[in-house]
Amino acid sequence: MMIDNLVQEQSKFFKTQQTKDIAYRKQLLKGFHKELILHEDAICDALYADFKKPKFEALASETQMVLSELKYAIDNLEFWAKPTKVKSIWTNFPSSDWIYPEPFGNVLVIAPWNYPFLLSISPLIGALAAGNTVVLKPSELSPNTSKIIVKLIENVFPKEYVSVVEGGISVSQELLSKKWDYIFFTGSSRVGKIVYKSAAEHLTPVTLELSGKNPCIVDATASIQLAAKRIVWGKFLNAGQTCIAPDYILVHSSKKDELVAGLKQHIEKSYGKDIEKSDDFARIATEGHYNKLKEILKGEDVLFGGSFDDGELYIAPTLVHEPNFNEGAMADEIFGPILPIISYESEDDIDTYLTNYDKPLALYIFSNDKRFQKRIIAKYGFGGGAINDTIVQIINKKLPFGGVGGSGIGGYHGKHTFDLFSHKKAIVKRATWIDVPVRYAPYTIPIKWVKKIKHLL
Ligand code: NAD
Repeated sequence: MMIDNLVQEQSKFFKTQQTKDIAYRKQLLKGFHKELILHEDAICDALYADFKKPKFEALASETQMVLSELKYAIDNLEFWAKPTKVKSIWTNFPSSDWIYPEPFGNVLVIAPWNYPFLLSISPLIGALAAGNTVVLKPSELSPNTSKIIVKLIENVFPKEYVSVVEGGISVSQELLSKKWDYIFFTGSSRVGKIVYKSAAEHLTPVTLELSGKNPCIVDATASIQLAAKRIVWGKFLNAGQTCIAPDYILVHSSKKDELVAGLKQHIEKSYGKDIEKSDDFARIATEGHYNKLKEILKGEDVLFGGSFDDGELYIAPTLVHEPNFNEGAMADEIFGPILPIISYESEDDIDTYLTNYDKPLALYIFSNDKRFQKRIIAKYGFGGGAINDTIVQIINKKLPFGGVGGSGIGGYHGKHTFDLFSHKKAIVKRATWIDVPVRYAPYTIPIKWVKKIKHLL
């Protein structure tokens, strides 16, 4: 179907009010749940074909997270969709006051390649749970996953309700030129700006899940071995192509040597001595990105790793020693298995780094000093993060996931996704048996009383 027709069909379908029927949403989400379970292995195969994503990671960080989101939405949908009563206000007496969650309408979801299944389907679930129709555009850079997504969606949903449009930049731009009621974009901050501009043309609300340069601070009180183990896991999962992976380490100078030794040890423990042969380490998904990473490595002092294989798009887990400020590995988000290690002496040094970049999507603190933890959390803006761990903030559905400033707008997961895809319609239900006359003209209430209204509100 042509994009124009598709947009019209979805718009027409939304107007039929069918998606307002909670039983209908639930029935299709249940069907989708069954379909995903049936094809879970095939989804993992597609992820492997795209960038050798290890099966454990495919299950743990994509399909199982999606299934869990889906089940949670199915189980809670009726409750979430109910109007909520709020305390009414004295001046409106007698009234009852309500918030009605209302679907926006026709939603466009644009997804990236790095978690191509999770980041396509997770927002889709929330958008559908909230009663919207969806056009989903997965990334052209993960074509096998994209294909299976098309199949799964077509098997369950009518096209006028949910459709997948495959394609690259031009298709994405054509979609963005249409009028949507909501746009949910995950990807780079560069493209996020393009999406935001297109949305502004139609005053369309957006969620932008973008990128950032995520600091990982290791202070002098940290449990270094545990820090090393958890940083290695969070950084080299998906070969570093995780938007919330630690981008660089700021370590107190007194602990640098111990941390570096721990990182080396845990890299070898996780992936063996010949990492290219490990089944547990993914590849770089695209040649362009691979070349960019190789370029970064050229000018850097490599402490560990640093090898690559053009045929395989393989880059070894690599530790970079004290890179120059704002250059090479510290110029931009790395988004690959390269980990700069920078030592600091004082909190002023930390401040220099943290204030140099846009607010990141994630920040990690390894420390046993509660006051230090508190100071960092209070002082700096960032999407979210963890104390003494990495990545895990994404797992709890009760926590909103999203960026701030340069790393994005809006947060989702669990009920937060339902809320994000729902307009909150405020309704005051007035009674008719009495009509207090004070507000009507001609105004006869003394002005000194009017000045006291604030005490009644
Ligand atoms: P990207 O911004 O290049 O592409 C994302 C999507 O936008 C793709 O579907 C692509 O087809 C489309 N697109 C690309 N260029 C476009 C253009 N000029 N106009 C319109 N559409 C365009 O991102 P990517 O390379 O696929 O993903 C990696 C980036 O995404 C990283 O920067 C990473 O940090 C970020 N990311 C963020 C999150 C998050 O949740 N905040 C999650 C994953 C990835």
